[in-house]
Amino acid sequence: MTLFPIFADLRGRPVLVVGGGHVAERKAAALLEAGADVRVGAPGLTENLRRWAGQGRVRHLDGAFDPAWLDPAWLVVAATGDRAVNAAVAAAGQERRVLVNVVDDPALSSFQVPSIVDRSPLIVAISSSGVAPVLARRLRERLEALLDHALGPLGELAARYRAQIRRRRPELGARRRFYDWLLDGPVASLLRQSRAGDAEHALREALEQDEAPAPGRAVLVGAGPGDPGLLTLKGLRALNEADVILYDRLVSEEILALARRDAERIPVGKLPGEDHNATQARIHELLREHALAGRTVVRLKGGDAFIFGRGGEELESLREHGIAYEVVPGITAALACAAYAGVPLTHREHSQSVHLVTAHCRDSEDTLDWQALARGRQTLAFYMGVSQLDTLAGRLIAHGRDAGTPCVLVENGTRPQQRTLSATLADLPARAREHGIRAPALLIVGEVAGLAGRLGWFGEHLGEPGTERRLAA
Ligand code: SAH
Repeated sequence: MTLFPIFADLRGRPVLVVGGGHVAERKAAALLEAGADVRVGAPGLTENLRRWAGQGRVRHLDGAFDPAWLDPAWLVVAATGDRAVNAAVAAAGQERRVLVNVVDDPALSSFQVPSIVDRSPLIVAISSSGVAPVLARRLRERLEALLDHALGPLGELAARYRAQIRRRRPELGARRRFYDWLLDGPVASLLRQSRAGDAEHALREALEQDEAPAPGRAVLVGAGPGDPGLLTLKGLRALNEADVILYDRLVSEEILALARRDAERIPVGKLPGEDHNATQARIHELLREHALAGRTVVRLKGGDAFIFGRGGEELESLREHGIAYEVVPGITAALACAAYAGVPLTHREHSQSVHLVTAHCRDSEDTLDWQALARGRQTLAFYMGVSQLDTLAGRLIAHGRDAGTPCVLVENGTRPQQRTLSATLADLPARAREHGIRAPALLIVGEVAGLAGRLGWFGEHLGEPGTERRLAA
C-alpha cells in the first residue's frame, strides 16, 4: 500500500484551491459540500467562482500565486494547469508540511482525491494509487449501480438509533444479527418504497422484542426478454441480495450468471403439457417456505411479472401469509422485440394504440373481441401465438382486417439467435412454417410492422422484397 486512506473532517477548516478555471471550480464545489472554508487563489475566476466569492461562500485571493496563501490551510489543491505554478504550490506545501493534491499529477501530489460513491453517511472511496484512474472510474460505476440509494437513509436511521440498539442488544452477537436484519429485512425494503415513517416504526418495534425477527421477504423481478443488458439496476441489486432464486424457463443463462454466487437457484418453469395450475401452486409454496424461513427470495420471471406472468397471483399468496414483498418491473417482450426489430409500436399516422394480447389458450380465443382487434390504425402484439398463427391470421381477416396487413414475427427477441420474419397476414402462417419459427416468439401485426425490413438492426431478418413498406411520416 503506497497511499494511506483517510476521511478528513474539513468543516470550518481553511482549504486552499490554487487556480480559477473549471477544474478549480469543480474542486471548490466538492470542498464546499464537505463544509470546508474554501479560499480560491487566482488572478481570474470562472463565472460561478466569481458569484460564490460575491456571496461570501468562498474567499478570493486575487493575483499570482503567493506561498503565504498556504499558511492557514489544512489542505491544498493545485488546479492551475500550469506545471511550474503547480510545482511551486507543491514545494510550498512540502516546506510547511501541508498535504497538496496537484490535479492529474500524482508525482507532484502528497495526497490523492479518490473517486467516490456517495450514499451519505456511507461513502465508498476508490483509489488506484494514482496509477490507473480509468480502472478506479470503472469500479466506481459498478458500485454506483450496485449500491442502492436507500443505503443513505438506512445509514442515517442506524446512526440515530445506534445508542438505543447498543442498549437493547448489549451482546455483540445479538447486535450483529440485529444489524443484519436492519440491512436485509423490511426496514431497508420500506425505505426503498419511500416509506420512511413505516421503516422507523418497524425498527422501533423490532428493538422492543428480544431477538431480531426473521427478515424473510420476496422480490418479484422482471428479467426482461433475454439480453442481460436489459435487466434493470434494481433487478441486478435484488439478484445480488438473493438467498434463493426461483426462475422461469424464459430467463436467460446470462442473467442467472449475474446473481450472487452462493444463492440457491431453483428452476420452476412450466413445461408445455404440464398441469400449469399445479406448478403455480408449487411456486406459491416454495415462495412461502423460503421467505418464512427468513430468506430473501427472488422470483425471477421473463419479461415483466405483470404481463402474462401470473405475478398478481403470487402477490396475493404472499399477502395472505403476511410476507413482505417488492416488485421490480422488467422490459416486456412486446417492447423489447419491437425495439430490436426496428418497429415503433405507435405511429402518428398509422397506429394510435397498442394491444398486448395472449393467444395462448384455446378458451381465450372465444373471449377475445376479434371485431375490435381487426380494426385498423392499431398495433397488436400477440404473446404465446406461434402454434396458433393460422387461427390468429384467419380470424383477423375474417373480421375485416386487410389480408395485406404487415406482420413481423420475432423469434428469440434480443438474444444472439434472434430472427425476425416479415410477412403479411395472408402468408404469415405458411412463411413461419417454411422457416421453422418456434417459441418464444412474439407477433406484431399492423402497418408499423412493415418498417422492420428498413429499421431493424439486430439479428437475422427473413424478409421478401415487396413485404417491406415505407410509411410516410
Ligand atoms: N412476462 C413475459 C411474457 C410471458 S408469456 C413478458 O412480459 O414478456 C411468454 C411469451 O412471451 C412467449 O410465448 C413469447 O410470445 C413472449 N416472449 C417472451 N420472451 C420473448 C423473447 N425473448 N422473444 C420473443 N418473444 C418472447
